[in-house]
Amino acid sequence: MSRSKVVLVTGGSRGIGAATSTLFAAHGYAVCINYKSNALAAENLALEITANGGQCIIVQADVSDEHEVVQLFERIDRELGQVSVVVNNAGILRQQCRLEDMTADRINTIFSNNVTSYFLCSREGVKRMSTRHGGKGGAIINVSSGAARSGSPNEYVDYAASKGAIDTLTKGLSLEVASEGIRVNCVRPGLIHTEMHADGGEPERVERLKSIIPLQRGGEPEEVAEAIYWLASEKSSFSTGNFLDLAGGL
Ligand code: NAP
Repeated sequence: MSRSKVVLVTGGSRGIGAATSTLFAAHGYAVCINYKSNALAAENLALEITANGGQCIIVQADVSDEHEVVQLFERIDRELGQVSVVVNNAGILRQQCRLEDMTADRINTIFSNNVTSYFLCSREGVKRMSTRHGGKGGAIINVSSGAARSGSPNEYVDYAASKGAIDTLTKGLSLEVASEGIRVNCVRPGLIHTEMHADGGEPERVERLKSIIPLQRGGEPEEVAEAIYWLASEKSSFSTGNFLDLAGGL
């Protein structure tokens, strides 16, 4: 069955992406759940979504790789139909360290995974959604981070800088395609309970830092997903080039 609303969620299998895939499916979207290596997490999420009456496909693709991104969108074209929402969410960070300990390899890996990937998926999305190319319009939502504002000193300045690039991408692309039926907006989560913090070497990071959050707690992936969904929906029809901070007041 082909549904009229189709969303791609990059890194849609775990954390914020999984909550986003689940929410869009519950609202009747056909969802493409993209992931990179953890097939089991993607398969389990897909089972849950279909058990609840939703429609989804799971597609393994490294979104930092141009060829794999092109193939990812071709699968969506074939199996779900024309994409109407792209959620650029897949992202990584590495072990906490100071800048003087960062190698070029690490910095390039962070930027290709967190920045090049967003450019490539936006490119493929614009080619399909822009009225300039015969599309019906749509929405792109970029998942940036509060780190773009804090700079993440002593933890991961590389990661923070990659998110700063996403804020600039959001601004520039939103203006480029505003007259072509595509709205481009951005969410900037703060400290959210996901497995990502373990990749930085500190699984309990949110608990350690929660006392500095004005709301006195970390956020849940579902709270970020709601904002992403709103930015994709017609309820935010006059919003483009905007940033929604979901950081509990930080
Ligand atoms: P997460 O739990 O670590 O999940 C990351 C997801 O991205 C997984 O589905 C992973 O796939 C996928 N992924 C990573 N690299 C990929 C690639 N090259 N190609 C395709 N998929 C890839 O992360 P999260 O905490 O939900 O973070 C999601 C987004 O929110 C990221 O952009 C992150 O920077 C941002 N963010 C998170 C927080 C936070 O506190 N958690 C705060 C601010 C912003 P596999 O499972 O296959 O590895």
